[in-house]
Amino acid sequence: MTQKSDKPETKLELSMPVQYLKGVGPAKAEIFAQLGVVTVGDLLEYFPRDWSFAPEAVKINELKDGETATIIGMVESTDFQSFRKPAIFEALVADETEICRVIWFHGGYLRNQLEPGQKIMVCGKVGTYKHQLQLTNPRFMVLGAEGGGEEYFSGGVYPATAKLSSNQIKKIIRPVIEHVDGLVEEFYSGKFLKKQKLISRNDAFKWIHLPEDEEKLARAKRRLKYDELFLMQLGLALRRAKRENFSSAPKMQCSEEINKRIRKRFPFLLTADQDEVIDEIVCDMASNKPMNRLLQGDVGSGKTVVALYAALLAVANKKQVVIMAPTEILANQHFLSIERYLKNSKVKRVLLTGGLTGQKRKELLGQIANGEFDIVVGTVALIQNDIEFKNLGLVVIDEQHKFGVHQRAKLRKQATPHCLVMTATPIPRTLAMTAFGDLDVSIIKHSPPGRGVIVTRWVDRTDQKKAEEFIRERLRARKQAYFVYPRITAVEENGDIKAATVEWKKLSEEVFPEFKVGLLHGQMTSSKKNEVMDGFRRGKINVLVSTVVIEVGVDIPNATIMVIEGADRFGLAQLHQLRGRVGRGESKSHCFLFAEAESELAKSRLEVMTRSNDGFEIAEHDLRLRGPGELFSTRQHGLPDLKIADIIDDYDLLVMARRDAFEMVAADAMLKDGGHKNIRRVLVSKFGDTLGLADIG
Ligand code: ADP
Ligand code: MG
Repeated sequence: MTQKSDKPETKLELSMPVQYLKGVGPAKAEIFAQLGVVTVGDLLEYFPRDWSFAPEAVKINELKDGETATIIGMVESTDFQSFRKPAIFEALVADETEICRVIWFHGGYLRNQLEPGQKIMVCGKVGTYKHQLQLTNPRFMVLGAEGGGEEYFSGGVYPATAKLSSNQIKKIIRPVIEHVDGLVEEFYSGKFLKKQKLISRNDAFKWIHLPEDEEKLARAKRRLKYDELFLMQLGLALRRAKRENFSSAPKMQCSEEINKRIRKRFPFLLTADQDEVIDEIVCDMASNKPMNRLLQGDVGSGKTVVALYAALLAVANKKQVVIMAPTEILANQHFLSIERYLKNSKVKRVLLTGGLTGQKRKELLGQIANGEFDIVVGTVALIQNDIEFKNLGLVVIDEQHKFGVHQRAKLRKQATPHCLVMTATPIPRTLAMTAFGDLDVSIIKHSPPGRGVIVTRWVDRTDQKKAEEFIRERLRARKQAYFVYPRITAVEENGDIKAATVEWKKLSEEVFPEFKVGLLHGQMTSSKKNEVMDGFRRGKINVLVSTVVIEVGVDIPNATIMVIEGADRFGLAQLHQLRGRVGRGESKSHCFLFAEAESELAKSRLEVMTRSNDGFEIAEHDLRLRGPGELFSTRQHGLPDLKIADIIDDYDLLVMARRDAFEMVAADAMLKDGGHKNIRRVLVSKFGDTLGLADIG
């Protein structure tokens, strides 16, 4: 027996902690952990943030003017010429063939990096200065004393920290890359890869870290981005399949008679967009798969009418409907408009308000539970608490501009009704495919005819008086105006920000003493708020001073003036929402924006506002100005974060991945197929058990 201690080589595995890799240890492992890298698998997914390519090194006497070249040589001397404009750091670098001048403009920082005697590798553009070849502003790296390290000059540049440089990361990751073949498992069949022109996962990981050239890098990126997007879409497709396969909603029949009867309720013809959306909804509700549809449309585009159609269809099928709004004002308004459309109808409807308490409330809830009411309207908060239905068939959620995914989830527990969510926030197509990727989306693009245009102006403070005079004229013509402010009360240290309560006093006493000026804000009681809204609705109040509380769905066609103070303090989506309060009647409307602070971001927002009235265009701008992260965190929606793909830049790949993922789930809803084993495993590790896949062998 040999006594040779033949220690078996520790096998590299994706789950192995990086601590056991060569050159890591506990201290570096700690730093890696702060970068989110705990295992070898994490390390493989710690992608470079940039890549550099250097041509193979040549001798100095082979340099040619105008080329990009790499040389290796000894630093002979250095010199910092601070008197020059700009200051220049110069090094003379020599190899066995020749000597060459290398300069860096603004190179002062190199004084403690480069010194005579060092061996360095330099890559940059060759130029001539005083008839001599030189390299200007090149990339460089100091090599080990006896050479060595050249292999780190090209390749990925990693997001580094003060305690862990990109080169250190490179040194640790390279040996892992060399063994990647046994580590990374392929997800797809060879046929699929060929069809989609994707390289193997092995090669992708190899080349993302250590690309031989730009082309290989591009192919590696494409594959890894595709995987990321595909897995996300697969998660969405599975979530949807789970919902559809494991819950059942009442089927609703829609006869021609029912259709006619419902349409008679509307004193106008529905628009082509409304008709189209109604067709989609009727089709959804005819199935026992629960509808989960998002209806997008600018404020005033006629969503409520569509929702009421769906509601009446459910009622015709002897089912109850609940309509939820984000605020009491809106719930109230929904109820009023339903009352208007349903005059003399036998449909029983009720408005649940916060003011309703005690015995009365109990009685009402009892009636709802007994099925005595067909349509129940209220705020999300009120309805979610303790209310029970006899046979709930449809839930309508009017979110205006708030995305309430959690609310939706909560309500689903009660039963499996069909669900229609309305939003006035145009969701850019990219986000609609990711964050809302398991919903069906309908869009009302065109508002009903007969809407006056809205002219938007960004007004200079010096023109304020002029604007006020203009508004006075309109008020005299019996039109109404909104004045919106960013705060309720003034704050000492921030006197510049105009406050509703202060300005209300000014407007009512000094600017428009001849008119009735009302005040509305979130700290008022709901009965007081309703009183003010009612006064404005009936035209008793001419000017409504308010905070953003009025931004949500208030519909008063006679109000044609919107003044927004401190407009730079609102986001684009919010500004567009606010502006949507006007332009609801036939007359021309005006929106005046006032803004003091002038950051670039605020400026571009205000410019977009004056230029465009199209909610979708504005939303795309918003997405570009702020980035998807701010608008929308993927994590918040139970989706894994994207490390390498970008839903805007990689839109085409996203579309492709989405199609492929939904096709896969359509063919194999639980990914039981043997060929899908690896994908399923990765999904479980990314999404946890939320998809119900974990228990499949
Ligand atoms: P949204 O809910 O999208 O803000 P609403 O459904 O409240 O829009 O409609 C806004 C206004 O337009 C309402 O006064 C409504 O009566 C009117 N309206 C809706 N659809 C039509 C239509 N097809 N033709 C004319 N007016 C319409
Ligand atoms: Mg509405």
